Amino acid sequence: MTPHIVTDPPHLRPLTILLYHGVTASRPHGIENHSGKHIQVATFHEQMTLVKQHCTPLSMDEAMAINQSGADFPRHAVVISFDDGFRNNYTLAAPILAELGLPAVFYLTSGMIHTDMIFWVDRIEAAINHTRLTHLTIPLGDAHPTLPLATSAEKIQAVTRIKSFCKQAPQAERDQVLATLIAQTQVDPSADLAENYRMLTWPQVKAMDADPLFTIGGHSLYHDVLSSLPHARMLADLDLSIGLLAYGCGHPIHHYSYPEGQANHYNATIVEALQQRGIRYCPSAIHGVNPKGSDPFHLRRIMVGFQEIPFPFFPSE
Ligand SMILES: [Zn+2]
Repeated sequence: MTPHIVTDPPHLRPLTILLYHGVTASRPHGIENHSGKHIQVATFHEQMTLVKQHCTPLSMDEAMAINQSGADFPRHAVVISFDDGFRNNYTLAAPILAELGLPAVFYLTSGMIHTDMIFWVDRIEAAINHTRLTHLTIPLGDAHPTLPLATSAEKIQAVTRIKSFCKQAPQAERDQVLATLIAQTQVDPSADLAENYRMLTWPQVKAMDADPLFTIGGHSLYHDVLSSLPHARMLADLDLSIGLLAYGCGHPIHHYSYPEGQANHYNATIVEALQQRGIRYCPSAIHGVNPKGSDPFHLRRIMVGFQEIPFPFFPSE
């Protein structure tokens, strides 16, 4: 493996924020983890070793202090971030980060901590993965597609179709699609169906928070898209998601990341509401790196491994 050679002058050195969701040691059953949301533990170890050897790892606070000071970022400046709050962040990712002394920020979906709930995207995946149906007819807005489910490829196509509809639908409509899906597939999509679906417990969150390498931030209560919620509910979601973490960790919370995090999933009203609640930095999930002086509420990230997006510093093998 050969590192990319960066010849840009210092003022063009960007900040790279890596975005992970999970690290896994389990073999997937069927189409579970087909998108690569949870990366293999050996791959994660390899990537973190490269960060340690070739990059300048920074905490989000350190990176943002440089960003706001107007100074240039150091060469290969990297922030490591995790979204969602999966239990494997504690059991598999944190030990590797601690072993290598790498700082990281964990954005947690705080209403799901210490529960058996699983994400709505994972409910779709689990229902389709475990059903005995060979096809499914489901209302998606004005469309009534019949989705074949006989092969893994067909199941992945069905999951992708339903997810993409739900990501842009109002929350009530998304919930209706999920209820129909679960009734038809006759699958109860629980955390027992895949180890990767499990969420952190409060003792795990507190242990991570107590480690000076790690920062805890918010990521909504239940991963509802903030821009899809009525205004009052969006504000309540911010109050509760931030308040719950502050209560659980015993100190104010200054970090957050937008659920889904694409340009249509947040807006100026949401940014202002976050700022009013003490949030200082909130990266998006929009693909890219950050030049100095970037807006701390419009930071871009690189979602490593997800849908085969390569690790940015080295060509993938
Ligand atoms: Zn998320």
